[in-house]
Amino acid sequence: MALKVIGHIAPDTDTVCSPIAYAWFLKEKKGIDAEAYVSGTLNKETQYILDHFQVEIPLLLTKFNQGDQVFIMDTNNPDELLPGISNATIKGIIDHHKLVGGLKTEEPLTIVMEPIACTATIVWNLMKREGVTDLPKEIAGVMLCAILSDTLKFTSPTTTDVDRLAAEELAALCGEDIDSLSEEMFAAKSDLSGMSTRDILTVDSKIFEFGSKKARISVLETTKPDNALAMLEDLRFEMTQMKNEEHSDYVFFFVVDILHTEAHLVVATDEEKEIAEVAFGKVFDQETLTLPGVVSRKKQISPMLQKVIVG
Ligand code: MN
Ligand code: MN
Repeated sequence: MALKVIGHIAPDTDTVCSPIAYAWFLKEKKGIDAEAYVSGTLNKETQYILDHFQVEIPLLLTKFNQGDQVFIMDTNNPDELLPGISNATIKGIIDHHKLVGGLKTEEPLTIVMEPIACTATIVWNLMKREGVTDLPKEIAGVMLCAILSDTLKFTSPTTTDVDRLAAEELAALCGEDIDSLSEEMFAAKSDLSGMSTRDILTVDSKIFEFGSKKARISVLETTKPDNALAMLEDLRFEMTQMKNEEHSDYVFFFVVDILHTEAHLVVATDEEKEIAEVAFGKVFDQETLTLPGVVSRKKQISPMLQKVIVG
């Protein structure tokens, strides 16, 4: 059975494209039987990218089965993986997030983790290290897109010189213009048509354990923040519903304005409002809390909220 290369649930572009590229590398360059999978429906940005480079959507997996051999990418958090991960044999992890613990293996495995902006950057560097630079256009293309997506075209503070260099090299390999490609990707990402309020709140969403508290932090990266912010009533209603259903203590929703490099925070109750005002040292104007320069959940959002919630 082929090695399943797969990323996190609520798939984003990096978590879909890095497995595509790494499975290609394993299969074509290392002679390892490997296949890329996805853990859920693709977002519109990722759909646009696969369509643009004419790459087939990876097979959908809904759970891990006994005997599955898996290679995990873009997370190391068991809660962000499909159910049944404890039944599977984890052969490796490539990731760029904080180490949360919880995954166990019977045997030694490969782990590559780096504090950089994107899994695809790590994958590209692993390829280069083995002298593999003859990538098909579409493989270089999807890796480039993963980097542009995770760095918001280099505007996120998570961006490193390593990511920038990788993107430039991959752009040269696939012959794409970074500016126009990013523009198309972000336009696709900003299209909310056909999405329910719940979809909007969960398209890029993670649950964090902060001490004894459970906080859901959702992000919507968009070039048109007004489209989401026009739905405040519905968003708040749905956030309260989610909180009750999943027994989380807090739900935060950040509408990230890609073009202006700022975030608008939406909350449903005064509890979250008070936490956020302390965390970011700023008070709400009318309905939302505007946070200039804030775009990264990993670097600028979750650590600040955690500090206040844990106390
Ligand atoms: Mn991701
Ligand atoms: Mn990533």
